[in-house]
Amino acid sequence: MTKEYDVVVIGSGPAGYHAAIRCGQLGLRTACIEKWQSRDDKTVYGGTCLNVGCIPSKALLDTSHKYVEALHEFETHGIKVPAVSIDVPAMMGRKDEVVKQLTTGIAGLLSSNKVEAISGKGKVTTPETVLVTDHEGKEQELKAKHIIIAAGSVPIEIPPTPVDQNTIVDSTGALEFDEVPKRLGVIGAGVIGLELGSVWARLGADVVVLEAVEEFLPTVDRQIAKEAAKIFAKQGLQIKLGARVTGSKLSAGRAKKSVTVEYQDGDGEQRATFDKLIVAVGRKPYTRDLLDPSLGIELDARGFIRVDDKCATSVPSIYACGDVVRGPMLAHKGMEEGIMVAERLAGKKAQVNYDLVPSVIYTHPEIAWVGKNEEELKMAGVEYNVGAFPFAASGRALAANDSEGMVKIIADAATDRILGCHIIGPSAADLMQQVVIAMEFSASAEDLGLTMFSHPTLSEAVHEAALASLGHAIHIGNRKRRA
Ligand code: FAD
Ligand code: NAD
Repeated sequence: MTKEYDVVVIGSGPAGYHAAIRCGQLGLRTACIEKWQSRDDKTVYGGTCLNVGCIPSKALLDTSHKYVEALHEFETHGIKVPAVSIDVPAMMGRKDEVVKQLTTGIAGLLSSNKVEAISGKGKVTTPETVLVTDHEGKEQELKAKHIIIAAGSVPIEIPPTPVDQNTIVDSTGALEFDEVPKRLGVIGAGVIGLELGSVWARLGADVVVLEAVEEFLPTVDRQIAKEAAKIFAKQGLQIKLGARVTGSKLSAGRAKKSVTVEYQDGDGEQRATFDKLIVAVGRKPYTRDLLDPSLGIELDARGFIRVDDKCATSVPSIYACGDVVRGPMLAHKGMEEGIMVAERLAGKKAQVNYDLVPSVIYTHPEIAWVGKNEEELKMAGVEYNVGAFPFAASGRALAANDSEGMVKIIADAATDRILGCHIIGPSAADLMQQVVIAMEFSASAEDLGLTMFSHPTLSEAVHEAALASLGHAIHIGNRKRRA
């Protein structure tokens, strides 16, 4: 029997489950199809983000940060602890529990919002039909007025280092090591390379990151990226830029395997041997067996489903959002797109402000940014004022013994409207979010400067950076800098 819905959503990652829940809230008869299964063959909701992405990686980042604090920093506060050690299986167990709690929570949220969760792989066969094949191979057909595709993305593999999820792993394998590798190689100094490289470096691995591009974090504000490179080097992450990997060889010792990676850099041919190698060179949209070719849904040159700024595909009844479409591969970008599509299907006006998608790298210190950086504004010929405030001058950061980095605020020289915020430092993500809100309301640097901030907080660094851009910060010397 063919079941009928107003909306069928394919995928229950951040984009899919937000779309489905909002559709349910708006009274649309909605189904959400998910193919992901846990190790014990149960359907799990939440996609990459909850199962093998944002959440498990942050669980490991938090554990490993606490370990570093206990090992090196408690003493500064006068806290003496006996020998500190890490129990990797216990760390992994905690991470798995957090994931389980959240993925089970999504199943509950779908149900309480009257979304029918359907287990299996969905394929769009006509503009109004989705064929679902369950894990036993049984098929059912769903009819829908609208289809939302939120099928997400998968890691990119490169020929020189084929992933075996044992010695050579992708980000998913890197969340599952059963012990701390002595020598860890990472290919790609992007977000995943830096976050997961940091986890294992903190726990004692000797980490080498091989990055093909010559510039470190090329999309990040240069001043912030330079500061980050210095801090990571101090933390023991060896980042080799301009390193092009050309091949790898697995060698099976009696007890343990290792991998020798061949790469070329400015000094010529190089080799390095690792116990584990993480390949983190980006992700690609996942559209395998998803779309019947007769639909004529357009993909772009990199395989993303082509959509407009309202996530409409080339077929009027079909929408797509999240990692499977253009734009940054970030959970929150997909969430907002999912909600926008649901609201528009319910006849509401909704849009996503693609100019204000915040980015964060959850290392310690964190790196966070939104809006334009100095380099982009210079290229565009925009005159700006910039104010920077170092955490070394923040009372609260010093009290916490966590005072590396700075807040930078950039404002239009003519109108004073805030154009960008760039932070490296403690709680950078949460601090930057304050400026995202200000920017959503078209605030000026003066607006931030006139706002009262609680003392003593890290947020005061945001206040001071805004004041610095106006030339009257209180806790640092003022050198008003214009473009
Ligand atoms: P996904 O989360 O990939 O979900 C897609 C879902 O669709 C999956 O569950 C998949 O099984 C299902 N699916 C696919 N095809 C079908 C089909 N045919 N039928 C049924 N189901 C199907 N982003 C952040 O913003 N912050 C972070 O801190 C962060 N950390 C990350 C850490 C790591 C290690 C990784 C790998 C990613 C991280 N990301 C982070 C990125 C984030 O996970 C993704 O941007 C986000 O999950 C994309 O959401 P999505 O819903 O588009 O796709
Ligand atoms: P990325 O694009 O951030 O970084 C990949 C890096 O690999 C780049 O620096 C690239 O130059 C380098 N690279 C590519 N090919 C290479 C090669 N052959 N040899 C050496 N280096 C090479 O991708 P990622 O780190 O894999 O992350 C994937 C996606 O997941 C990103 O789009 C990111 O937005 C998302 N993510 C986000 C977060 C977060 O928001 N904190 C965390 C993890 C992942």
